[in-house]
Amino acid sequence: MAGRVRPITLVGTPVLHQACRPVDDFGEALRELADDMFASMYEAEGVGLAANQIGVDLRVFVYDCPDADGERRKGVVVNPVLELPALDDRRLDDDEEGCLSVPGPHARLARPDRAVVHGFDVTGTEVTVEGTGLLARCLQHETDHLEGRLYIDRLSARARKKVLKEYEALRAESQAS
Ligand code: ZN
Repeated sequence: MAGRVRPITLVGTPVLHQACRPVDDFGEALRELADDMFASMYEAEGVGLAANQIGVDLRVFVYDCPDADGERRKGVVVNPVLELPALDDRRLDDDEEGCLSVPGPHARLARPDRAVVHGFDVTGTEVTVEGTGLLARCLQHETDHLEGRLYIDRLSARARKKVLKEYEALRAESQAS
């Protein structure tokens, strides 16, 4: 694996809180970015990673994540567009969620249990990824990142505060030791 492990940006870093720019150059640099993203995701033991989580302001995410059948799915999506089931057709999955950019805590967050993402691979070929189970959650979580939105921004004010408090406490602890 060619990628280079890069530090993960943490909540509060501006690049995480603004919408990323669309990719218009499907060249070598994009391939390198995807390799670095995979390497960084595996190092951090995540199931998905958005480019702004390694400080790059571009609409790209990678994933390596099981679906509802336990099948491992892996890929890169560039310029993703998320499609969710229609409201009457939507079932919510009320599972726990966490984020490498808010390391430590998890919180329950209801999301649709199916999601589809349309976009491109690193060569510019169109791809469609259909996700169920954890992969459905991952596809939504990563496209949110590219809009500058963290999962904690979807929590109640109270739950958000609790997550951030736990995160800060863990950080203070690790800096003290
Ligand atoms: Zn995340």
